[in-house]
Amino acid sequence: MKLSVLPFSLRLKRPFQIANYIRSETPVVFVKIQHEGFTGFGEASMPPYLKENLQTAQSFLSGVHFDDFRGPVDVNKILGDVEKSAPGNYAAKAAVDLALYDLWGKISGQPVWRLLDADPARVPLTSFTLGIDEPDVVRQKALEAGAFKILKIKLGGSKDKEMIEAVHSATDKPLFIDANQGWADEEQALDMICWLKERGAVLIEQPLPKDRLDDSAWLKEQNILPIIADESFQRLNDLPRIGYAFDGINIKLMKCGGIHEARRIIIQARKLNLSILMGSMTESSCGIMAGAALSPFCDWADLDGPWLVGNNPFMAPSLSGGKITLSELPGLGLTLQSESTDLFWTA
Ligand code: MG
Repeated sequence: MKLSVLPFSLRLKRPFQIANYIRSETPVVFVKIQHEGFTGFGEASMPPYLKENLQTAQSFLSGVHFDDFRGPVDVNKILGDVEKSAPGNYAAKAAVDLALYDLWGKISGQPVWRLLDADPARVPLTSFTLGIDEPDVVRQKALEAGAFKILKIKLGGSKDKEMIEAVHSATDKPLFIDANQGWADEEQALDMICWLKERGAVLIEQPLPKDRLDDSAWLKEQNILPIIADESFQRLNDLPRIGYAFDGINIKLMKCGGIHEARRIIIQARKLNLSILMGSMTESSCGIMAGAALSPFCDWADLDGPWLVGNNPFMAPSLSGGKITLSELPGLGLTLQSESTDLFWTA
């Protein structure tokens, strides 16, 4: 079994601004695992605030060995060993996890969603994200997002209300609101949430700074809209600490380390009565199709990377009625773009 690492940079079609930074590229590492004529692909997306980068990913991945691997039956054991091999490095761990699931599906001739026992009829609508921008630009982007039935709006800038009025004048689609910790206190957040509910908002992601859990719990108790943890929540062992403060969680494979951990989170979150948003970083179709495979177990999805990046090495998933179609192809259902084939096969 052989693991290869391919550094890459996903270029966004437009610079993307949220409450605390702006960027136009996101570093990623693609991982290729080859075994007996089959190849699995994985991806680590590493936006700078996650504190992973090409060097940390390469260093972590150079220590990953599969000497014991005999076939798909060993995937869960290997992922347990990968998890224990070093602390942190969750995006790099997700790359290995995704590649092993893709490989498992290809060896067994099954799509990953079927290996996970997911029901394609339960795929939720996925949102399309609009970053912070001038109100007329946001309005135009909202008009261009015709294939999506839900918009996700990033707030926490200086023109929040103007942006929402501009979007609301263009469409009456439901809105996911993501403040990215950008509101100063719970009273301001409550005022905004009440105002946003009148304008189509259906959930509020991370209204307050990530450690302000008691204030978030107070907001939740006001019971205006579901309050969802993103920056406050990373992995399964965060749930006991943060669960009381939110109505739901945003699971991202790059935060938690991949499909294996995400499944455990989903089971535990349901026991705690938490709603689940299947989220994503800036990711190619590789990470997004892995998220889509888990999305039938979730209430909402925010899996829009392939439509936001201009150099996705894989074909975009197909979208039907605002939902990602789960592919019947084995593994994650990925097809390389023709211009990326050489890049991936010489790596
Ligand atoms: Mg978020």
